[in-house]
Amino acid sequence: MKKRISLLFLLIMHLTSGQEKFPKDVFRPPLDIPLILAGTFGELRSNHFHSGIDIKTQQRQGLPVYAIGDGTVTRIKVSHWGYGKALYIAHPNGYTSVYAHLQKFSPEIEEYVKQTQYHKRSYEIEVFPEYGKLKVYKDSLIAYTGNTGGSSGPHLHFEIRSSVTEKPTNPLLYGLDIRDATNPTLQGLYAYPLSEEAVVNQSELRVQIPFSRQPDGTYLAEEVKAKGTIGFGVAAYDRQDLAANQNGLYKLEQKVNGTLISSFDFDSFSFGETRLINTLIDYEYMSKYRRRIQKCFKTEGNKLSIYGELKNDGKITVKEGLNYTVEIDLKDLAGNSTRLIIPVSGRREDAVNKMEIPKTEHYIVAGKPNNFELGKVKLYFPANTFYSDFYIDLRASGDTVTVHNNSVPAHKNFTLSFNTDGYEESFLQTAFIARLDDKLRPNYTKTYKRGNTFTTRTRSLGTYTIAQDTIPPKIRSKNFKSKQWLTNYRYLSLLISDDLSGINSYEATLNGEWILMEYEPKTSTLTYNFDDKILDKKQCNLRVVVTDNVGNSTTFTSSFYRK
Ligand SMILES: [Zn+2]
Repeated sequence: MKKRISLLFLLIMHLTSGQEKFPKDVFRPPLDIPLILAGTFGELRSNHFHSGIDIKTQQRQGLPVYAIGDGTVTRIKVSHWGYGKALYIAHPNGYTSVYAHLQKFSPEIEEYVKQTQYHKRSYEIEVFPEYGKLKVYKDSLIAYTGNTGGSSGPHLHFEIRSSVTEKPTNPLLYGLDIRDATNPTLQGLYAYPLSEEAVVNQSELRVQIPFSRQPDGTYLAEEVKAKGTIGFGVAAYDRQDLAANQNGLYKLEQKVNGTLISSFDFDSFSFGETRLINTLIDYEYMSKYRRRIQKCFKTEGNKLSIYGELKNDGKITVKEGLNYTVEIDLKDLAGNSTRLIIPVSGRREDAVNKMEIPKTEHYIVAGKPNNFELGKVKLYFPANTFYSDFYIDLRASGDTVTVHNNSVPAHKNFTLSFNTDGYEESFLQTAFIARLDDKLRPNYTKTYKRGNTFTTRTRSLGTYTIAQDTIPPKIRSKNFKSKQWLTNYRYLSLLISDDLSGINSYEATLNGEWILMEYEPKTSTLTYNFDDKILDKKQCNLRVVVTDNVGNSTTFTSSFYRK
């Protein structure tokens, strides 16, 4: 109820504020250093568009983070994964700023967070502080930059969302000062035959089109000979002036003979549609070559809202004997752009390179639920798990099942169930469903055990099997020894690991009282901060229990002294 009231309040404020869509002079930057980007808004990531900007922090952690405007903290989340330690501030103009991968919060917020963590006895928390309880002002110190959660190097992930719709918007629209006079770069151009009779350069399949850079900076592609309905795709990135990072484009426009037929941009998108990135890119190509081609045309299942213009879904119908000039413009938000010209000539040419769709026993009708049974395994794909119909390759042998391969994206979770009749009870206790990675190593997937069935829900096609983990986690001290005096120590550090199913939970006590330990999976480290609790005893008995995903657990005990 409380949350609903504050949302209504925000809505009213938003509607009555009457401000321009993306106010340019209201917000200050979140950091005091020159802003250099390691990632842009809308950048193509794995199964999602990047919802903010990544600001480089000089390879360091602990830089002060400032509130970009007056506001109140509406949400704090601390997680081992994703955003790590993250702070959300609602501003009176209807926008919420988000700061993620933080090392720690400002003292006032840190105290609030620690209280919550001790109350809930969990490092991972998510709280929505009462509206106005944690007020901040423009320039207030709110946190320190870090590398927590799914971050692979120190940086600040920064977002500006609409407080009402929670849609992330492009933070560069608010007038942040980023040095950028660098044009986007084209890496690859691809043409796609799309209609049944379509042929491009004697191929019924995707073809790569060579291009060269002209003296004036534009790119000119070699002439494309085609018939039928075709489309283009580009691999491209944008760079700013002060770093080599290959960031995402802001906007793409495609013209045919001077007429705009398709365009999309990254002013904003919704989290609900972010996974549809797999319909914008050539997913199959990405799964093979790790490079993302952005299609200038729209295919089945693509419900993305990022398009401006869209004529004939961005597809080009090529008629015999006619010539076309296709122009693709790649743009960044600073106004730099790169032009690509593709001459297309309509020819009646037969395909040498033919499309052959491998037929299998099983067929997916994307719009309907699909059920399959393969030996011990049952598969259930809800309607619209996939974007289009296809022959699915399903194989089972013993307790291994192969569900096609990762060249096809799944939009929704599907269910995979193993019948476990015939296994020893003792085996089943420490067994789990594993997905085999490229190197055939088993990776734990969350396994629900009920009766004689193991079930998992997943969006990854590939090979699954039953694996067993009988080895409990390992725990060892990192910065202290048993019976040591630790009077001047600020931290207590332990290393924890699990060989196969992975760490599920951990719990630590000092002299029988629960203590907060921060787990950093990237360094396998558990850390206790001595500031958290005043110890009233000289001798401290530490007890740490770590449990893996199938329930094996290890208990570590040690004692030390402190004045
Ligand atoms: Zn980021």
